[in-house]
Amino acid sequence: MINAVIAKVFGTANDRALKRILPIVQQVNSHEAALQSLTDEQLRDKTAEFRQRVAAAIEGIDPREDADALYAAEKAALDALLPEAFAVVREAGKRVVGMRHFDVQLIGGTILHQGKIAEMKTGEGKTLVATLPTYLNALASRGVHVVTVNDYLAKRDAEWMGKIYGFLGLTVGVIVHDLSDEQRRAAYASDITYGTNNEFGFDYLRDNMKFELSDMVQRGQYYCVVDEVDSILIDEARTPLIISGPTDQTTDKYVRVNVIIPELVLGELTETVDSKVYTGDFVIDEKARATTVTDEGWEKIEKLLEIGNIADPENWDLKHHVEVAIKAHHLYKRDVEYVVKDGEVIIVDEFTGRLMPGRRWSDGLHQSVEAKEGVNIRKEDQTLATITFQNYFRMYKKLSGMTGTAETEAAEFDKIYKLDIVVTPTNRQMLRIENPDVVFRTTKEKYFAVADEISRLHDLRQPVLVGTTSIEKSELLSDILKKKGVRHVVLNAKFHEKEAEIVAQAGRLGMVTIATNMAGRGTDILLGGNSDFMARQDLVRKQQARAVSAAEGAIQPVAGPGMFRFYYNNQEFECSQEAWDGAVASHEAAAKAEHQEVLAAGGLHILGTERHESRRVDNQLRGRAGRQGDPGASRFYLSLEDDLMRIFAREWVSSLLERLGMEEGVPIESGMISRRIEAAQKAVETQNFESRKHVLEYDDVMNKQREAVYGLRKQLMEGVDQKQLITEDYTSTIMSNILDETAPEKAHPDEWKSEALFDQIYDIFGARFTNGTDTPTALDLTTLSRHELGESIFDRLRARYDIKEQILGATAMRYHERIVMLSVLDGLWKDHLLAMDHLKEGIGLRGYAQQDPLVAYKKESFDMFEAMMMRFQEDTARHLFRMQIIGPDGQPIESAEQLAAAQAAQQQPPTIEGQLPELEAPRPTIPTKAPATTIDALEREFQKRKERELEQSRQASASATADESNTQRIAGERVGRNDKCPCGSGKKFKNCHGANA
Ligand code: ADP
Repeated sequence: MINAVIAKVFGTANDRALKRILPIVQQVNSHEAALQSLTDEQLRDKTAEFRQRVAAAIEGIDPREDADALYAAEKAALDALLPEAFAVVREAGKRVVGMRHFDVQLIGGTILHQGKIAEMKTGEGKTLVATLPTYLNALASRGVHVVTVNDYLAKRDAEWMGKIYGFLGLTVGVIVHDLSDEQRRAAYASDITYGTNNEFGFDYLRDNMKFELSDMVQRGQYYCVVDEVDSILIDEARTPLIISGPTDQTTDKYVRVNVIIPELVLGELTETVDSKVYTGDFVIDEKARATTVTDEGWEKIEKLLEIGNIADPENWDLKHHVEVAIKAHHLYKRDVEYVVKDGEVIIVDEFTGRLMPGRRWSDGLHQSVEAKEGVNIRKEDQTLATITFQNYFRMYKKLSGMTGTAETEAAEFDKIYKLDIVVTPTNRQMLRIENPDVVFRTTKEKYFAVADEISRLHDLRQPVLVGTTSIEKSELLSDILKKKGVRHVVLNAKFHEKEAEIVAQAGRLGMVTIATNMAGRGTDILLGGNSDFMARQDLVRKQQARAVSAAEGAIQPVAGPGMFRFYYNNQEFECSQEAWDGAVASHEAAAKAEHQEVLAAGGLHILGTERHESRRVDNQLRGRAGRQGDPGASRFYLSLEDDLMRIFAREWVSSLLERLGMEEGVPIESGMISRRIEAAQKAVETQNFESRKHVLEYDDVMNKQREAVYGLRKQLMEGVDQKQLITEDYTSTIMSNILDETAPEKAHPDEWKSEALFDQIYDIFGARFTNGTDTPTALDLTTLSRHELGESIFDRLRARYDIKEQILGATAMRYHERIVMLSVLDGLWKDHLLAMDHLKEGIGLRGYAQQDPLVAYKKESFDMFEAMMMRFQEDTARHLFRMQIIGPDGQPIESAEQLAAAQAAQQQPPTIEGQLPELEAPRPTIPTKAPATTIDALEREFQKRKERELEQSRQASASATADESNTQRIAGERVGRNDKCPCGSGKKFKNCHGANA
């Protein structure tokens, strides 16, 4: 009650946010008249003028010294520029794409500039809204990213909105999956870059596997506008991005476990106030998507697998496999959670109904499903690089997003991303009629009623869009409609290539379209049909016919400058501007007339056949109708047998049935049921949020480590003083560790373990010291204090290092150091990621030991990371200090005298023994002999090698991506042993980042 009263007095938070934006909109409007009178040229000049103003505001601030001050100054300059800059974009929009931003779109643009989420209904023109903040923030010249849900939309939007940016003198790039590194670099160097979340994320990971700054494609994360932000930051955020390669593990266990699962009896769980009674061998909790094996069950499993106690540590692995296999058999259904296509198990996205080829469930689940389906079981992969979308997007200096449906997820956006949501008013009044739910007793009754209703609407020629929650259900409904003789199109995961085209026509007279959830998101449903799409279809058909004739030599294909480019079925086509305009015009008149007829029929009718787990997805479906003041209606048909009711409100439903005593075929319209369903949805949303939070909490632990490792890589590539790191920092840490162990501070010199001391130093630094006074490598342990001993060793090691540098030359030495450090670091990081995976798998078992698994994970992964970084220092020292330079007499050169002698005997040039800068982690135990060269020539050789490697990496990334052109890049990216390494080195993966996999 209070809320409503306060809201009245102060307005809601949303109203207040809007109120603050209104004066800004007025300011934008006040610039319009002046800008209208400018020539195109003068309008374009505004960009340079704005850029100068931003540059002036940040002049004198050193980005490396004071990044925060720089950002603050930049922000103030952009805020001040907003009204005029928005007005310039609006004027450009009017001139080049024929659309003048509506006032509500200016509001949306301002919200985006403020780093918030703009909730704008479907059809409000979010694509155009994005141009405002994108242009404004691009004036800072640091790169703006616009993220879309698929490649098709990235290309379409970049092309369409690119006209505005291009007109104003800004460059636009698109990142799609089949690009070479060079093309990617160019796209990222543009003022504005469009692309999908997967592309941006994978590029980030791949960049952090590179060896040269100049090979990296991205230039940081500055400002980002995420379209369909709920889909990307919430739905997709459940699976992290992973680049992985194969390991050598076997897959026998999956088969062994798989055969015993059908022998197990599914029981039931009866819960009373103070006890839980299980029957059978195992029970399933659909609500929690969990299984519990009973004691009898475990005994049976032990017998079937012919093993001892399943709880013994050596059987933990099998125990885990059994639990996962039960899930694979009983919770994961074919054609619902996954499909089997060409001998592969492909995940169906629960939200969009799309196939996700290449994406794999983790934790052995995918392999268990493969075993169940009897298809080839793929070996476990090991992670090479990984990040969650949450952590990727949190790197942006400023993040913003837009969608039609965000409010239900406000808590998550706030907690995880610190993103506020502001709901904008619609441009025209919303006329959609939202009818109350109709509820039936059984699924069967429901579907027949749905079919009857579709048939009725079809007779009235009102277009209907039917939403289903799975492929299976859309096919079931399609069968019923076929029997009734109602013409319809089915749009589900199996046809997703044509998604946009089909959805675009869903508003035509008498059209019936059955779609899984959010299929075709981002495509506008115009009542009466989309003439733009019809034009595309026509032109492509004509071109294809012409291509056939051309092949037969009948006509010459036309091509040349001034062509109009467009996309159809995700492919790019060209035609002359004239042909395009003609094709669109030929459909426009017909579409207009049909539009009137559809309006008279009541607009688009949305028919939901089940509630989705998330209210947001239901709202998406409803939002398809009633765009820009169009008439429209929506209604959901539900049954008490729907999953949501069955799983989350079973007892409630049965008691309701008793009270109501429903008759077969008679529906009930009940607000009570709708409310109960909404409560169930909220419960599932919370549960899903928890599971995403869980994924994130684990990634957060690794995130700090990833930042440290990637930060160090970056420093190395930027040319940090490596020599200082190696010969001072690392060497002194290693030395003090060795001394602590062999000559502890408290110990008397008599107790020093001199042999162990010298052995360990030899192991790491390759220098053999002895106890005594007679030779240059002797140390007199009887007279030296602990401190003097350390200093003396340290100085001599350093002198040895300097000799190497004198011989090789500083440039070559630095290059060699960098390559060694990067490859050592990458190798260790890869092993660390594998160890972390295992830790995570095993940590669930800690529950038994009364430990919070997350706390245990944090602690152990920290210890592992510390150990890894120590290992990094040692291995780096080992590789570099042990590299030997052999003099003309065949002896290693280790002192200034030897060097002088060697230089005097120039006719016999020295050879290097150790490792030349190879990209793989060098192994000190197998020294390779390089061909004899003079000192100067050696340096030239290094230089040439570097250039060659760079060239190879360029060619490799070009050909590697060409090979992949048919594979869809999704949240899991897998590298085969013989594939090119994703780092772009040009080597096979097994010889580069995949060595030792
Ligand atoms: P959303 O993503 O918000 O659902 P779209 O960006 O797909 O909407 O735009 C919906 C339609 O509205 C497009 O056909 C677009 O051309 C049109 N549109 C958007 N803004 C304007 C405008 N200011 N004037 C005229 N048409 C517009």
